[in-house]
Amino acid sequence: MQAWAATDAGRVRKSNEDCYFAGELGSGTGAYFFAVADGMGGHEGGEVASRLAVGAAVAWLRRWAQAGPDAPSPGAALSEAVLAANRALLAAGRARPERVEMGTTFTAALVVGGRAWLGHVGDSRAYVLRRGSLRCLTQDHSLAAELARTGSLCPEEVRGHPLRSLLTRSLGAAEEVEPDFFQVELSSGDVLLLCTDGLTSVVAEDELAGEALACAHPRELPARLVRLANLRGGPDNVTVVVGWAGGEGEV
Ligand code: CA
Repeated sequence: MQAWAATDAGRVRKSNEDCYFAGELGSGTGAYFFAVADGMGGHEGGEVASRLAVGAAVAWLRRWAQAGPDAPSPGAALSEAVLAANRALLAAGRARPERVEMGTTFTAALVVGGRAWLGHVGDSRAYVLRRGSLRCLTQDHSLAAELARTGSLCPEEVRGHPLRSLLTRSLGAAEEVEPDFFQVELSSGDVLLLCTDGLTSVVAEDELAGEALACAHPRELPARLVRLANLRGGPDNVTVVVGWAGGEGEV
């Protein structure tokens, strides 16, 4: 597995409230982690929230990756890591009342032995690009997306809808958190792509697939997509993380 990432504040916002991780959880462990988090909340709360969430999950998973044969399964480990991230946010909110409103989206993939375990809360997204076709693995937890799923809104209306950024699930909001968990078998050559809504709010899915296919090598994809979001006005922070299940026989 190989990992690349790019992030940018965009053309409008002064600070970057996105945060990410992309890489191996410890040299030689063979466990790779990919995560994007899009923070929200005043008083620099958004920046703090996304960093705390990613930091807490990575710290938990690094310990897990070193723990040996008695360690929990990857699925259980990812679930614990998401809960640890949520607890870190709630604790920080309690310690600093001005940050009690802070929260973050969290979309992550733990890759071990050719399989990816995914955990997802909010409106960041995970995609897999396989043999030229791009598939979205996640469902947005936004009010507009939920309305589209119940048929109250046309899918085409979601991208520009005012309720698009109103999240129905996030980390840091409550003790109870309901992430979506699922797993995907990876094949040699697959590209795992995680991104925040700073990309998907300005680049449509078919265009995303076209950009991915136009790349000579997956390592170029994060910077290429961040550049495209900025060409579209860069209205939001944008983060793109890519994991590549290498060449022949390498996952
Ligand atoms: Ca955003």
